[in-house]
Amino acid sequence: MEHNVTVSHTPFTATVLGLPRVGPRRELKRATESYWAGRIDAEQLHAVARELRRAQLSELRSAGLDSVPVGTFSYYDQMLDTAVLLGALPARVASIADPLDRYFAAARGTDTIEPLEMTKWFDTNYHYLVPEIDSGTTFSLNPEQLLAQLAEAREVGVAARPVVIGPITFLKLAKSAGERTLDRLPELVRLYRELLVQLAAAGAEWVQIDEPVLVTDLTEDEIALVRLTYTELAAVEQRPAILVATYFGRPGAALPALAETGIDGVALDFVSGTTVPEVSVLRDKLLVAGVIDGRNVWRTDLDRALETLRDLAGSTGAVAVSTSCSLLHVPYGLAAETGLDEGLRSWLSFGAEKVTEVRTLATGLHQGADAIEDQLVATRAALAARRADPRLHDPAVRARLAALGPDATRRAPAEQRRELQSERLRLPALPTTTIGSYPQTSAIRLARAALRKGEIDQAEYQRRMRAEIADVVALQEKLGLDVLVHGEPERNDMVQYFAEQLDGFAATENGWVQSYGTRCVRPPILYGDVARRDPMTVDWITYAQSLTDKPVKGMLTGPVTILAWSFVRDDQPLADSARQVALAIRDETVDLEAAGIRIVQVDEPALRETLPLRAADQPAYLEWSVGAFRLATAGVADSTQIHTHLCYSEFGEVIDAIAGLDADVTSIEAARSRMEIVEDLRSAGFDLGVGPGVYDIHSPRVPSVEEITASLRTALKVIPAERLWVNPDCGLKTRGPAEVELALRNMVAAAQAVR
Ligand code: GLN
Ligand code: ZN
Repeated sequence: MEHNVTVSHTPFTATVLGLPRVGPRRELKRATESYWAGRIDAEQLHAVARELRRAQLSELRSAGLDSVPVGTFSYYDQMLDTAVLLGALPARVASIADPLDRYFAAARGTDTIEPLEMTKWFDTNYHYLVPEIDSGTTFSLNPEQLLAQLAEAREVGVAARPVVIGPITFLKLAKSAGERTLDRLPELVRLYRELLVQLAAAGAEWVQIDEPVLVTDLTEDEIALVRLTYTELAAVEQRPAILVATYFGRPGAALPALAETGIDGVALDFVSGTTVPEVSVLRDKLLVAGVIDGRNVWRTDLDRALETLRDLAGSTGAVAVSTSCSLLHVPYGLAAETGLDEGLRSWLSFGAEKVTEVRTLATGLHQGADAIEDQLVATRAALAARRADPRLHDPAVRARLAALGPDATRRAPAEQRRELQSERLRLPALPTTTIGSYPQTSAIRLARAALRKGEIDQAEYQRRMRAEIADVVALQEKLGLDVLVHGEPERNDMVQYFAEQLDGFAATENGWVQSYGTRCVRPPILYGDVARRDPMTVDWITYAQSLTDKPVKGMLTGPVTILAWSFVRDDQPLADSARQVALAIRDETVDLEAAGIRIVQVDEPALRETLPLRAADQPAYLEWSVGAFRLATAGVADSTQIHTHLCYSEFGEVIDAIAGLDADVTSIEAARSRMEIVEDLRSAGFDLGVGPGVYDIHSPRVPSVEEITASLRTALKVIPAERLWVNPDCGLKTRGPAEVELALRNMVAAAQAVR
């Protein structure tokens, strides 16, 4: 039967674009992992999820949002959910009958099934699963989950706005063997049209269609597809009002294209650069103005946001207040934090606080500033206190940075350094090494937990970590590796470890943010000028060096990665923060050198991932990020060898920047496209040391001697022997000790064979 629903397109005034889902205490993570381990059943898992959603919805209702996103909940990832919605799971999981297990199989794989690939969600630290589309993919609409969540939300009594990822973003982010994924757009548009009808029938007044891909560089043809797609969706007769959401940047040419269509509203990110004049094209559409930063943790300057909102109201029709993007990227709320000092705390705004800010600004916009006078006064006081706080300006650090000349980022020519270093290090051809971490054993985790709970003291902890280091050094000696590491047992996380020891960073207790699936991280908050009080790694590294005559590498995290995995200050350019962190790392390299360490590795796995989304913004980023790395590493003597390590990405786009780092040796993830990266480096004129990973540490499989030998031989076709290093892809901390020993033994044997 045809439902005859009259949809009223009343604009709303206050919303957020999406919600976190792991639970304020990571309840969903725990329940999901229990389900995987067979400790609870699907019904129990669903019950936990339902309870979390209910609690969240009623909170948003009491907070006074008059439109609430529904369907941004996920058991693993929203792109995977969209693949399910569109019937686009890969054929290899089809044999799994249970839908939940099929879903998790696509996400994580099984003994026999490869999972979907995972990659970074735009320039955030969230990872999504990459849908696979091939000629065998037959799309079909499966809206049951979304409809169930909609019904659930309506029961709670919120004005529910279903959210789906749009067809253009879905296809652009999907991968396919040959065909252009966008060729499948007409099929998807048919399904989205059907979805709109069903959502309207279920009582949805508005639907939000997320198209973040519109903030990346699109071709004219692609912009034309945007226009066509949304013209067709808007032409559906019985449908909810359509809000197209863009975020993480400015939509540029996609905005006038959207404006020409019959959609009813557009959400824009005013935190990352969209400007007021751009919106005049929207005329009578609802503008959902993302004036509150959805991905950083700072308290919003309400006066400024209100001014922006008023300007917007003057140049377009109805304006609603919103966050710039989903709250997925910030912690749930400040209520869970007890350890932050009152000053810092009053400068911050996590998820719950942002919802309140949205409500406040909507009131201010529609009823006048007088109606929010108290909040304006309180915010002004907090922001003034923040600006005046001495921790924001460390004159000593600023003076040192100002005094640095161009020499501070320059070392002698690579050729000259190579000679000095080879004389000092006397390494064999094709030296073998590892990336830094060794398996994090249960003894290590127990020691860390015991220290946290106060069951052991610092001295006992130190003793246990030293025992781990001694084991790792002995293992490497036994295996015959050439350049040793201490194994990083003392580091829970390669960024947090340094942030905890640097002035200017604060840690949270419960500030968890989903990284992927059930994995959550607690990014440190960079709020002030960065200074290093004391050496951070020297004791551990020199202890390891005292146990062996072979060189032990000092292990540091680079400035770009430290910032990429933290919440950063919004009151100065990132480039300035990077120089401050770089200076601290530089001091550490110099101290390591003075303590007799001959090789220092500065990891920059995040170098590629923070590359700006638009090509026009990339050169400036690469300039400062490479500059920061060089500042961090150019303080040592030419005879000290600097290594760096890069991973998690396709590096083709930043190949020149890798050369610009001027590290004596670069180890690089190369598992998937082993020789491509080597070839790319060669054609970019890269003439420094390079260690393309010959052991894929993301898999428990032990590579054979023959396999590694073959990889080395291929590498030797483009890299001369005196510049080739032999190492795994990445750190070994997630692997088991037994497989690591076997794999490294094979790696050393292969190097010897090729020598
Ligand atoms: N040195 C780090 C390790 O080995 C590097 C980790 C990384 O690349 N993410 O664990
Ligand atoms: Zn790595």
